[in-house]
Amino acid sequence: MSFSLEHIGIAVKDLEQSKKLFETLFQTPPYKSETVDSEKVTTVFFQTGQAKIELLGATSPESVIQKFIEKKGEGIHHLAFEVDDIERQIERLKSAGFDFVADQPKNGSDNKRICFLHPRSTGVVLTELCQSIL
Ligand code: ZN
Repeated sequence: MSFSLEHIGIAVKDLEQSKKLFETLFQTPPYKSETVDSEKVTTVFFQTGQAKIELLGATSPESVIQKFIEKKGEGIHHLAFEVDDIERQIERLKSAGFDFVADQPKNGSDNKRICFLHPRSTGVVLTELCQSIL
């Protein structure tokens, strides 16, 4: 079973401003921008070699990203690992004692099914498992 770093999620206050900043930094425009209404978040993706950078901007004060920024400020929000069988990985990790934020994978941005491990399980680093929808 594979487990490879897919992207790093970064919570930002001003998505437009951060988008421009990273565009200049990487010398490349984002390959995708997508709003996930259920999460009240807009995501902007940059391809940087093997792993991507996902900028996360809140679309509402109730967004988890807004709450994260109020508590911790802007910065790294989560690490995401691509797996080839997300249900099996969830099963495996649950039996190894890991807690998940939700029990079932849901549809996330960038054509992926995603599931978050609870930060208390992973040493305060919010960790996402994702699997591409084929
Ligand atoms: Zn992510």
